[in-house]
Amino acid sequence: MAGWNPWHGCRKYSAGCLHCYVYRRDAKYELDASAVRKNAAFDLPVRKKRDGSYVLKGPDEVACCFTSDFFLDAADDWRAEAWRMMRERTDLHFFFITKRILRFYERLPEDWGQGYENVTIGVTCENQAAADERMPFFQRLPIRRKIIVCEPMLEAIDLSPYLQGIAQVAAGGESGEDARLMRYEWALSLRAQCMAAGVPFWFRQTGARFEKDGKVYRILRRHQSAQARKSALSWAGLQEE
Ligand code: SF4
Repeated sequence: MAGWNPWHGCRKYSAGCLHCYVYRRDAKYELDASAVRKNAAFDLPVRKKRDGSYVLKGPDEVACCFTSDFFLDAADDWRAEAWRMMRERTDLHFFFITKRILRFYERLPEDWGQGYENVTIGVTCENQAAADERMPFFQRLPIRRKIIVCEPMLEAIDLSPYLQGIAQVAAGGESGEDARLMRYEWALSLRAQCMAAGVPFWFRQTGARFEKDGKVYRILRRHQSAQARKSALSWAGLQEE
């Protein structure tokens, strides 16, 4: 999987942003993460080598904009060009996760139609308020592949009214020194909702503070995915016979 960060930096937006990893990482280098800037790698998807072939080889998946938010207002002037590059590279599948899905129509290309075939959009729902604000809008949008990301999951969330047309729900806790607690029961409940709706569920990682059976565990970053796997909560969805 390739990575593409067309711009860097972000502004805090909702409860899930409190311990944003972009801010934490930039602070280590005494950088201001709220100073949004276009990256040197802005044109990476269409950049070519001397022989005329693309630097990014297809077919491949490309994770985009993971040090910012694709629909950030400070990036409005750059977004049309980012969409154009995605449209050009039909041999790549782009995906990004946003909290600002309500800004979806800002600089949306005219030829978007029912969505580009090669773009997946994920929306973060860290708590019930975010789900209730973002999901009814997200459900109505013309996007070919939609996923929901409950990360960092801050409380029990009822997604059951919003699961129609969703390709996957992913969940996980918060990382870092000051991580907020994630509970096993919250993931279990999301899994049950997904199973009832036939939507694959991926318990991605536990976060740094995870509670199960009344005990709180401190889990190092490098063990968080493995611990989530051990819980066997992920569900691949209904398999065809
Ligand atoms: S939207 Fe994402 S990148 Fe932006 S401040 Fe919030 S957590 Fe950080």
